[in-house]
Amino acid sequence: MPQARILLVEDEPSLARGLLFNLEAEGYVVTHADSGEKALEAFNRDPFSLLVLDLSLPGIDGLEVCRQIREKSPRLPILILTARSQERDRVKGLAAGADDYLTKPFSLDEFLLRIKGMLRRSGWYKEELPPSDFYAFGGNEVNLREQTATTPRGEVSLTELEIKMLRIFFDREGEILSRAELLKLVWGMAPDTETRTLDNFIVRLRRYFEPDPANPVHFLTVRGRGYRFVAQP
Ligand code: CA
Repeated sequence: MPQARILLVEDEPSLARGLLFNLEAEGYVVTHADSGEKALEAFNRDPFSLLVLDLSLPGIDGLEVCRQIREKSPRLPILILTARSQERDRVKGLAAGADDYLTKPFSLDEFLLRIKGMLRRSGWYKEELPPSDFYAFGGNEVNLREQTATTPRGEVSLTELEIKMLRIFFDREGEILSRAELLKLVWGMAPDTETRTLDNFIVRLRRYFEPDPANPVHFLTVRGRGYRFVAQP
């Protein structure tokens, strides 16, 4: 089973250390951020299965982080942590898109159970896919079997041909693929067939996955030779 990745946003060092240690002991892969800015950075960089978010943070506060992340990722389970004195924040947090909350101080067992339950409800445990059915790069996560992708700009549904092309790019990451080869592998066409379709596909992939589609860093044109996919520019 793939490991669930958790983004833990908590600025109190001792609490953060304790939660991090215990989450990792449960087998989760954890990224810790101690400010709202760092949380958004991490979120835009890597795909996560769940977010644990302290609401009172220095800088960009937890509510704003919650709002921004929920906007980009409608299905990510979000657990907010609030102080007992902040009942109004808790309500605002749920309104900002959080799924559940814990009031500090909470027991570690309760915390871990809550996370397990949220992951289960989100369907994460059901996705026992071989690694090749998932591919993550540059803040995007593609589910090749379900033909969907989560990108920093939101959820995308992909066509069968787009998936076919993505599989080829992912399998041969870093290699230059000639236009003729791509046409043949994706469409089964002879190399001398009309190739504008291929260019349109590349434009679409860039629009879905590139931070700036006009200046691609993942789906690159190699002049005179073809295209090259780079996972980490
Ligand atoms: Ca705090």
